[in-house]
Amino acid sequence: MAYDPNNIFAKILRGEADAHVVLDEEHCLGFMDLMPQSPGHTLIIPREPAENIFDLSSEGLGQLISTTQRVARAVKAAFNPPGMMIVQLNGADAGQTVFHIHFHVIPRYEGEGLTLHARSVASPAELREHAARIRAELESTP
Ligand code: AMP
Repeated sequence: MAYDPNNIFAKILRGEADAHVVLDEEHCLGFMDLMPQSPGHTLIIPREPAENIFDLSSEGLGQLISTTQRVARAVKAAFNPPGMMIVQLNGADAGQTVFHIHFHVIPRYEGEGLTLHARSVASPAELREHAARIRAELESTP
């Protein structure tokens, strides 16, 4: 399947759709998942147009994974979860629903399951507050 430049993450990258951004850099963008599976669920995407891990350049993947590590550290500092899931899905059969490659950073809390994938939209106020907490951690870390 060819990359669709009208997917929602491409629109977010072009500023045509809103997102609660935590990190905005030359190669990558980080923002809150609209339908978080747990509080603090964050997504990291490359600016390079690539549908999945097979299409992304290895340089782009290197930048994406190191940015994911930085964001995951900030999410950990902001939410202090005992566990952290970092997930990346390739293809509809693997559960991918947005066809611009992304890593999910999903805090995990003891005894708390995940809400269903991409089902219920969080309130803008909650997403705004969570993004601010993560941004504050990123800004305080060199
Ligand atoms: P995946 O199923 O791995 O492709 O993940 C796509 C993720 O994007 C899901 O967790 C959705 O909740 C999330 N999502 C969909 N639309 C938006 C949006 N406009 N802003 C932020 N996250 C979104």
